[in-house]
Amino acid sequence: MNTAPNHSPDEQLLTPIQYLKGVGPQRAELLERLGLRRAIDLLFFFPRDYQDMSELRAIPQLEENVPISVCGVVDEIDERNTGTGRSMLGVLIRQETQFLRALWFNQPHMRQKFSVGQRVLLSGKPRLNSLRWEMTHPRVEVLAAGEDPPSGRILPTYSLTEGLTQPALRRIVGESVERFAEFVEEVLPESFLAEKNLPTIATALRQIHSPSDNEQLNRARHRFIYQELLFMQLALGLRRHRLQHDQRSPILSATAKIDARIRRLFPFELTADQQLAIAEISHDMQCEHPMNRLLQGDVGSGKTVVAEYAMLLAVAHKHQAALMAPTELLARQHVRTLARDLRASRVRISLLTGSLSASQRRAVLEQIAAGEIDLIIGTHALLQASVQFQRLGLVIIDEQHRFGVNQRAALRQAGIDPHYLVMTATPIPRTISMTLFGDLDVSTLKQTPPGRQAVHTYLGEEGQREKWWEFFRKKLREGRQGYVIAPLIDDSNDLEVLSVESAYENLSNGELEAFRIGVLHGRQTTDEKEAVMQAFNDGELQVLVATSVVEVGIDVPNATLMTIEGGQRFGLAQLHQLRGRVSRGSHPGYVCVYASAKSEDALHRLQAFVRTNDGFQLAESDFQMRGPGDLFSLKQHGLPPFRIADLTRDGDILEEARADAQHLLGATPNLDTEAWQPVKQRVLLRYGNAMDLGDVG
Ligand code: ADP
Ligand code: MG
Repeated sequence: MNTAPNHSPDEQLLTPIQYLKGVGPQRAELLERLGLRRAIDLLFFFPRDYQDMSELRAIPQLEENVPISVCGVVDEIDERNTGTGRSMLGVLIRQETQFLRALWFNQPHMRQKFSVGQRVLLSGKPRLNSLRWEMTHPRVEVLAAGEDPPSGRILPTYSLTEGLTQPALRRIVGESVERFAEFVEEVLPESFLAEKNLPTIATALRQIHSPSDNEQLNRARHRFIYQELLFMQLALGLRRHRLQHDQRSPILSATAKIDARIRRLFPFELTADQQLAIAEISHDMQCEHPMNRLLQGDVGSGKTVVAEYAMLLAVAHKHQAALMAPTELLARQHVRTLARDLRASRVRISLLTGSLSASQRRAVLEQIAAGEIDLIIGTHALLQASVQFQRLGLVIIDEQHRFGVNQRAALRQAGIDPHYLVMTATPIPRTISMTLFGDLDVSTLKQTPPGRQAVHTYLGEEGQREKWWEFFRKKLREGRQGYVIAPLIDDSNDLEVLSVESAYENLSNGELEAFRIGVLHGRQTTDEKEAVMQAFNDGELQVLVATSVVEVGIDVPNATLMTIEGGQRFGLAQLHQLRGRVSRGSHPGYVCVYASAKSEDALHRLQAFVRTNDGFQLAESDFQMRGPGDLFSLKQHGLPPFRIADLTRDGDILEEARADAQHLLGATPNLDTEAWQPVKQRVLLRYGNAMDLGDVG
């Protein structure tokens, strides 16, 4: 069916999908499952991959490991179980007198795709296995009788849903692009397109769906990736502008007198990096607009004292400061540190966590509301609406990645925005800090405090365990303390890795019999945990057998030994955090990590871990190996996902988009020029809610 020719471009684009050629009500339902409802949805339903048919080859011309497509007839299908519940499917493809074998492991559903005599197209990397070419898990396309393999072109491959075939979807998308691409509004100004050498939207749409060569394809993809990243950077820029201009915060200046009074409390000289971070923070806090700063520094770099300075600056101006930690353990440790430094002052500190009894909680809340408490240290419990501060001037969040970005809003009260400082010891890869934290200023602690000793990290060999324990015992006898980390609490689920319980059993009746050992894990009550932590802190316990609960923030400088069991279970960032526990004092640290089953990935990770002690470098490698992961996903931070950009791959384009966004906003901070109105609207549409940009427009 046709839409009337006099419909406006927008109306055309909104044509319900079922009225498009070759769709109809049944297919429309299938397409709906892919989130496709209107013509325009099809245009922006980008291929997830491509099959390069300009590279269709005869079997004798294949080259080892070079991706290629091969067309042939199914000659034989062979399905078998390889024992232990694993299955293998082999499909022999004949091309005249030559053969190629396609293999699938543990994908029994693939069997249904094939029948003997069928013509198929396979794409993948061929390997020669004793004179026979093989492809493992190739992409498959079954050709209809009489259908020629599409040759000489780059074919798009779309995500499918059951009942919809690749050729059908290809046709539907292809026709929509032909017909509707020209109606899509070009939002980027013409001069900008020319300057950046970007194809127009209509051209880019056509070429991303049916490129005639790789160069076209790359140009088209580049435009969409760039545009997506540019829009996000503009959103971040608008938000930053808004925070800096529309929101009011108390002016909290570090006068010479206040500064001296605070510094007197610290038990050590600050490092140059700490000085600089404090200078940057003081500068922010004396502005009438809220500070939005990220303080990043590797484990043990000394972020706490910087936070302390900022809190005391607020208190000096009769404002309250709140410090949020990701775990109760850590919150309590912060209270201890602060109480130690402030024992001679009148500053009032209180803990607010989920484990307070109802009456304790009520009492604390009343004191907070009455302004009888200056420093409130807590966990998520701080975010609840029932917490009313009398005069909140500063919020500090330790280990930001555990909190969502928008929790800032929860702490905003009565027209006053507190200053805001986020701290993280998980070094944030540059691409992430440019996106998720793109609206924050950054201070970095690179140095570690003086006198810090090196940490030695070893990859443990099973045959050498005895030697390691001998060393461990020697150091304990010298007065040091140590951790033994296991990935699980008990043995119930998994017998392959050592659990905390078994490790404790084994060690206290074996290798570490002569020492005082405690156990710490997430299933204990808060009081139990606190008692164990306190005992370890005081040196009553010499060894702590624990899960990764000790991962973040725990600070016991005398602990210098760590055995990590089941190392394959931990991510690189996590391993580095764990290591951070034994690199805090004036004695060198020693970590030995054991891994029972080592996959290739795990081995790479462990090798990287042993090789370098630089958290930033490790964070980059982790990011390259495993992508942003959950902590740094857009979703975790309440933002819409990217459609096409990929931060692990598109770092360069991101840098470019960021520079361009800054340049544009530098010229017109609110993007209020006529030429950029369409872009601004798109940006607000996509990010307005998520980034709380409501009244920017
Ligand atoms: P992180 O950055 O991991 O939060 P902490 O703030 O816990 O690090 O500091 C780690 C250890 O270093 C603590 O024991 C702290 O008291 C100590 N420390 C911090 N700054 C200094 C300094 N300038 N000189 C000496 N020790 C310091
Ligand atoms: Mg810390």
